[in-house]
Amino acid sequence: MGHVVACQCGWTLVSPLGPDDVYEHLQLHVRVHHAGVKASESELREKIRTI
Ligand SMILES: [Zn+2]
Repeated sequence: MGHVVACQCGWTLVSPLGPDDVYEHLQLHVRVHHAGVKASESELREKIRTI
């Protein structure tokens, strides 16, 4: 079991380490690649799916 997130730009991440790990990577991705996007923690966490 793991967690996955798929960004609208095509970037995806799968992690077996839990939703917090995915969230950390997603937060970094948004900060670096979508610098103009304002997204709250809850909005980012809504993108995370359990697989
Ligand atoms: Zn992206």
